Amino acid sequence: MKKYLAYILAVAVILLNGVPYIALSNNGDDEQRVPRSKVERMEEQISESGVTITVKRVATGEYQTLPLEEYVACVVASEMYGQFEMEALKAQAVAARTYGLARVGDLCDTVHCQAFATEEELREKQGDEWMDKYWGKFLEAAVETQGQVVYYDGELASYLMFHSSSGGRTENSEEVFPYMVPYLRSVKSPYEDDATHKQETKTVSVDTFVKAVNGLNRKHITETDVQKMEITARTTGGRVKTIQIGNNEFTGSEIRDLFGLASANFTYNIEDYHVIFTTTGFGHGVGMSQYGANGMAKKGYNYKQILKHYYTGIDMGQVTDEIIEKSNNTTGPSEDDEDAVKDINEKTGKATEKTSDKSDDSKKKESND
Ligand SMILES: [Zn+2]
Repeated sequence: MKKYLAYILAVAVILLNGVPYIALSNNGDDEQRVPRSKVERMEEQISESGVTITVKRVATGEYQTLPLEEYVACVVASEMYGQFEMEALKAQAVAARTYGLARVGDLCDTVHCQAFATEEELREKQGDEWMDKYWGKFLEAAVETQGQVVYYDGELASYLMFHSSSGGRTENSEEVFPYMVPYLRSVKSPYEDDATHKQETKTVSVDTFVKAVNGLNRKHITETDVQKMEITARTTGGRVKTIQIGNNEFTGSEIRDLFGLASANFTYNIEDYHVIFTTTGFGHGVGMSQYGANGMAKKGYNYKQILKHYYTGIDMGQVTDEIIEKSNNTTGPSEDDEDAVKDINEKTGKATEKTSDKSDDSKKKESND
């Protein structure tokens, strides 16, 4: 009898709390999973479209030509999380397609342009379970936006930058990079609750700090200069624009790169002979926030609304025949590729972060200047 009562109680508790929640979240996951038959259909559709793109594999130096939409799905798989909402994945798909087509002839597979790994390589890296669960979603993001690209002023928008999370507000391009791009304006990014790296601290001893800063070969600084250093300007999005240390003015990005900070949106304290940085957000903060896009999708915004939010004044439309033709006919390097490759090697050699989180970061920003 006691057992029986316990059983009833357990069922009641489960009904009220546990199982419905678990069942819901399981269903959510299963609902997300695209049926095998549909995956096969989409794969066929993609290879039959006849539109291709060529990407340089930096590791081997070879050029690989593949269907455009397969490329797009592979970039989304490399740059986003499988758990993300479909509308956020679709926004990334349109951005990835646009970026790839704008770089035809100079397109590589690293974050210098945008990360790309083939379906096979993804399976090897992420495992069968991950692929079975998410590959269909990445394909769907590509197929459902097939051929759609972003235009600004009638031209392909070739600087569709993105980053992991902004910390609440994105940046004007010229406040972070040396160039002004009209659609890379500072906008609010209010739905980043799920983002990683929201508040992160990093501690550096004053001694290490001085050595690192002096390594930049500017005017020599001392430990006293560190005690007196001062943030002299912030960007519209809240990042450190300039910081005065001794007789030098450094940019926030310089300090971010130097100490591997998650973002240039930081404050600091000096305690016990240590500089303690606290950062907000992850990445350079320019363009679309990926966590912000996912947050918008959760609130019910669609991919077009997401793109239009993060890229000011853009239009969306189908890719033109002219662009397709150029992509189909380019299966190797463009004329200035030698420089581009040299550039890539220099920049990827400096890789620091980029292991635990996706996209953004210092390499990418340098690439686009
Ligand atoms: Zn590249």
